[in-house]
Amino acid sequence: MSTCTVCQTDAPADAYLCDGCTYRLRVRLRQVVATLPLLRAALRPDTGPAQRGGSGRAHSPLPVDVRALDLLGPGHPVPIEDPHGDQTGGIPIGPLLAGWARYLAADYPAVWTDRYGTVRIDRCTDARPRTGTGIPAWSAWLQAYLPYAVTRPWAEEFYHQVADLVARIERVTHTRPRRTAKDAPCPGCGAFALVEREDELHIHCEACGHRLTPEAYTAHRGEVMPALAALALRIAAGQHRAA
Ligand SMILES: [Zn+2]
Ligand SMILES: [Zn+2]
Repeated sequence: MSTCTVCQTDAPADAYLCDGCTYRLRVRLRQVVATLPLLRAALRPDTGPAQRGGSGRAHSPLPVDVRALDLLGPGHPVPIEDPHGDQTGGIPIGPLLAGWARYLAADYPAVWTDRYGTVRIDRCTDARPRTGTGIPAWSAWLQAYLPYAVTRPWAEEFYHQVADLVARIERVTHTRPRRTAKDAPCPGCGAFALVEREDELHIHCEACGHRLTPEAYTAHRGEVMPALAALALRIAAGQHRAA
């Protein structure tokens, strides 16, 4: 076991991220692609309703949402020269993902056999997604190499830069990961505060922070819900008699 560099919980041996943080990173790489249509929509001129009570605008509306333009801009692939910097700054999505893919590729040992039959281990020289060089291709490439990425010391920085990128996207698209309140009480504290989020591997309790896997939740629910349902029926019957 080792310790997750992001959340300080147990991580698999040789990994710098725990399963929960790795899951979140993978979902965020997917989210970046899923929100592209919304970002592109934000590039259209603002044709929203006029301000209430206003007879006109003090300023002409900007022709595009500049933040969306920043995110979708072509830019240049960014070599991650400062892996311990704390900002994605205004780096657009494409160059940020391509930059990390190239950084990962340069670090990835490529195993090959030379003409004398000796197995050699080299560094890869570049990342080449088979499906082109668009944002979906870089996202898919990074997801494919995620099991390797989490074993590298720079995994924490990669995690934070992608989190930062998704936060920038969400400020433009106003999207948030879906959350579902679960109906069984928390096995840790008994509160009805268990929540499932689409970007989280674990279901967690908003009252006490208890976490459990979806499988553990299903087993727990199977144990407690029949008794709770019987109790609810007894209460309802009691109220019926009292009425
Ligand atoms: Zn973690
Ligand atoms: Zn709890």
